[in-house]
Amino acid sequence: MVEKREYFRGSAVIDEQLNIQAADENFNAFLGGNAVYKLARSIHPSDIARLEEVISTIGIDGHNIVALRMVHHGRYYWMLMSLEDSKSGDNDKHSRHINIEIQDIAKFKETIDMLQSQNDDYMEYFSLMEYLMFSYDVNTDKLKIFMMGSHQQVNFYNGTLTNWKDSKLANKDIDTNSIQVFEELCNDFTEGSAAFERELKMRLFEEIDKKDWCQVKGKTITDAQGSKHVIATMSVVSPVSSLEYDVSSISNMQDFGADILNKRSMTSYVQRRLAYAPNYSVTIAIIDIDDFKGINDRFGHMVGDEVIRDVADILKEAVEGKGVAGRIGGDEMMIMVENLQTDEQIRSVLRTIRNNVAWLYNEQEDKPHITCSIGSATYPNDAKDYESLFNIADKMLYLAKEKGKNRYIIFRDDLHGDYVAGRGMPKSEEYAFYKYRKIGVVNNISNMYHEQGSKSLPQIADIIAMTFALDSIFIYEKTSDGTWKRYVLYGDAADSKMDGFYLSQDNYIADFTEDGIEVIDNINFFNQRAQTAHKAFTDMGICQAIQYILGGEPNGNRIMSFNRNKQMSKWSEMDIMYLAILGNVLGMGFVHD
Ligand code: GH3
Ligand code: MG
Repeated sequence: MVEKREYFRGSAVIDEQLNIQAADENFNAFLGGNAVYKLARSIHPSDIARLEEVISTIGIDGHNIVALRMVHHGRYYWMLMSLEDSKSGDNDKHSRHINIEIQDIAKFKETIDMLQSQNDDYMEYFSLMEYLMFSYDVNTDKLKIFMMGSHQQVNFYNGTLTNWKDSKLANKDIDTNSIQVFEELCNDFTEGSAAFERELKMRLFEEIDKKDWCQVKGKTITDAQGSKHVIATMSVVSPVSSLEYDVSSISNMQDFGADILNKRSMTSYVQRRLAYAPNYSVTIAIIDIDDFKGINDRFGHMVGDEVIRDVADILKEAVEGKGVAGRIGGDEMMIMVENLQTDEQIRSVLRTIRNNVAWLYNEQEDKPHITCSIGSATYPNDAKDYESLFNIADKMLYLAKEKGKNRYIIFRDDLHGDYVAGRGMPKSEEYAFYKYRKIGVVNNISNMYHEQGSKSLPQIADIIAMTFALDSIFIYEKTSDGTWKRYVLYGDAADSKMDGFYLSQDNYIADFTEDGIEVIDNINFFNQRAQTAHKAFTDMGICQAIQYILGGEPNGNRIMSFNRNKQMSKWSEMDIMYLAILGNVLGMGFVHD
């Protein structure tokens, strides 16, 4: 016989002798063909005593739950039975009636999963609705104001209503004409009004310098223990026909691509947490996907976007319940976690992120293998204000990239203090200019040259070398007899007997791009095609270089060479571009005796 258990939940009324007085359809169906009058016949013999025990101790108005085995189609199943004294009118001293409800324990997991997924649905709805949520405990005056993201709750306030009210009034966040409504609203909370709805004009977030019309709707619920909670939502209402109205202050909070906070709200959120000068720690970490450009190039932007969303999910999960995540740039994201007590706890969060990113598409062949680099710093130990904290975390991110990517670096004063303070480098090869921050350096150099001319060149060469982690900068010049002579602008003049000789061999210069650039990520590139060059680079100890021919006469006979003596990751597009510009400045300004 095929076993089907469609009914996992049923109710019945029994008396103290376990006679079934009434049963609903499900209950009858569970008991099946042997619809019996005596419940005991459907219960495992070893469980009957327990059931009787529970029945005798329910007491008037009480209720109780017992787990027992019940027969269904000839087999026993563990069921959860809840019992409650029946209050119906025909209950007299002679016949005590008990309401019972049975539930199949095995179905609980499914039910919980179903509720969980319903809950996720509601969270999604809330995150779409752009509401600020208020949760208030009437007994303790505790007020919490938060917003739901899909998977994270962003807290805006956590304290007492009294303090919130005082600070709102003190900051003049409430429009003068709305103060009375504001007072009434606060009373709704403290008194636990059954249901209320108020509209008032106020400033939602300190950093948004304008007041919005807000609608608050709330109600008071009483929990199982009898305590009163007020729950309320606040939304921005658009006044009819007001053109200056800028969509919604709240909807601007999220980064739509990645479904985490956007840069502005992430920044202001962390700033606000720090301004509050908490007496616990606040850790931030900046996360940047490694070689993301390559992922876009090889797999397309759609996959690139998916990678960003998936990494954002990993971050949300890693900070869930203890912090927030935001996207602060193309492939740059940030997390903030509060109150981590030890270094090991910080490491554990960062390790989780790093590992989950590395494992993200591990089993999928059609997906890119991705890694990320992370830099982290913690308030109040490492810095007291947001700018400095961010700056330190950013420099640690840079170090993580320089050290080979796919790693996290947590700031430690003894190791990185001098470096961050700009007093030299932690190890000789580590420099504090990361990506777009380089643009500032490039601008400074152009200005320096513009103001001081050729005499600034040695200093410019030093800065370029430091910014781009170079070991040497050469300039080659073609002499009248057609040979190339080398001048060393920066670094070790490690001698090559061949000097610029290789430039005239093996059709070397024909390899430059139309823009006059030759990018050498690894000198093995020359192994076959230009062996003279390979030997020259090996002799000079150079592993990577970018070379640039200055355009036009008389400069066409000058080549700049920016060199590294250690193998690092490939030259980035930005570095190639910047060095071409800087090569022009250096190469044109250079005067030899
Ligand atoms: P690094 O390891 O140094 O971080 O190298 P990278 O290639 O990741 O370099 P970088 O972080 O500078 O490059 C970020 C690139 O991300 C630049 C841009 O083309 C791409 N990007 C920015 N925003 C988006 C986006 O929303 N979607 C996609 N698909 N690509 C983006
Ligand atoms: Mg990147």
